[in-house]
Amino acid sequence: MLILFYLFILGLFLGSFFNVLSDRLPQEQSILGRSHCDFCKKNLTVLDLIPVYSFLSLKGRCRYCHKKLSYFYPLVEILTGCLFVIAWITTPIVIPTAVNLLAARIITIGLFSVLLTIFMADVKYHLIPDSLQFVFLVLALCYHLVQAASWLMLGSFIVSGILVMLPILILYLITRGRGMGFGDVKLAFVIGFLLGTIPGWIALYIGFIAGSVVGVALLITKKKKLKSQIAFGPFLIIGIVLSVFYQTEIIRVWQSFFIY
Ligand SMILES: [Zn+2]
Repeated sequence: MLILFYLFILGLFLGSFFNVLSDRLPQEQSILGRSHCDFCKKNLTVLDLIPVYSFLSLKGRCRYCHKKLSYFYPLVEILTGCLFVIAWITTPIVIPTAVNLLAARIITIGLFSVLLTIFMADVKYHLIPDSLQFVFLVLALCYHLVQAASWLMLGSFIVSGILVMLPILILYLITRGRGMGFGDVKLAFVIGFLLGTIPGWIALYIGFIAGSVVGVALLITKKKKLKSQIAFGPFLIIGIVLSVFYQTEIIRVWQSFFIY
């Protein structure tokens, strides 16, 4: 149990780092520079960077200019802590050796992390940085290797990537990139490569449904105009998560529509 506590704390700190990544990578800023306040640009000290605690102790304001900081930051830190714990617990045991299980768990934590960062970058900047796509692809490959996929299986996962990418690629070509970006096409490939064809298609399907529900809701509440885009990547990521955890339930609902 102690390991879960440490993972949660590690998640809090890394969540703070993912916040920074999701802002800097889409804007092509260096990820090594010191963190500063968004408003007064003053460099932050270690005291300002303790996850959650700094935010609470300063009552959500910058220590220097006292401007209000977004609740987004501490929430993402806590979410990352929770995701690390969930990843650790839910990694499927394919090969029951300690080394394999540990490696699979670390890679799953990496997958959760990169998806969270892509999610935030796409929501905020409507952009999925190629560096994050690449990390996602490498982690997906490592996951298959650790879970003992054979070369033949790896080949089939590449085919799955192409099959899951196809619908998005066609939409991209038809809408000439106005409906979705090429980032979504690349993301769909990695989703298929990681999950396989059917679970990948389920992720797309959920992504489309969630995207249209939210899109219509935003139109009705007049938060968005018909022409303005909403990023599709975050809905795909929600699709991945639901597909991984609720595949069988989703397929059962489908079947109940088609089989009497
Ligand atoms: Zn400030």
